[in-house]
Amino acid sequence: SKPLIAIVGRPNVGKSTLFNKLAGARISIVQDTPGVTRDRIYYECEWRGKTVMLVDTGGIEPYSDDQILSQMRRQAQLAIDSADVIILVVDIQSGVTANDQDVAVMLQKSGKPVVLAVNKADRLGEPPPEFYEFYNLGLGDPIAVSSVHGHGTGDLLDACYSHI
Ligand code: GDP
Ligand code: MG
Repeated sequence: SKPLIAIVGRPNVGKSTLFNKLAGARISIVQDTPGVTRDRIYYECEWRGKTVMLVDTGGIEPYSDDQILSQMRRQAQLAIDSADVIILVVDIQSGVTANDQDVAVMLQKSGKPVVLAVNKADRLGEPPPEFYEFYNLGLGDPIAVSSVHGHGTGDLLDACYSHI
């Protein structure tokens, strides 16, 4: 079966936008996956001749602030259990948050390959100073991405593919 790449992160960091950007450009089929909870959306994605399954784990239902961390942990655990590579999406506009740190520790402990996507880096060229703060998550070199514009998404996929 195809390697699974799961996208996790806080609400509003741009997980679904990233997912759509990655899937949209190279999409082949929408996976019909009976039994999969409706907050997990799968797409098949082809990049440099290799096919993977992408999953947006973020959920479609709004939930209250006090549920955010437990929901993030749940999604991260699902990704740890099922994915081959995990993309943790963070937001350069909000910087590193406590919830980012919590999930980063969880992912790091799992030993799964994690690729850190610093989203909303909309300007091309040298990343702004805030970008370097994300090294503190201890997940290796962050990758600056703009899911809206598509900048950095090729580098992001290359980093994911280096683990599969
Ligand atoms: P999710 O909750 O993590 O799935 O986040 P969404 O994909 O729904 O995006 C949340 C908001 O962030 C939306 O208003 C998006 O348009 C915006 N957004 C997502 N990616 C980017 C980006 O690369 N740059 C900017 N400026 N906004 C973005
Ligand atoms: Mg979403």
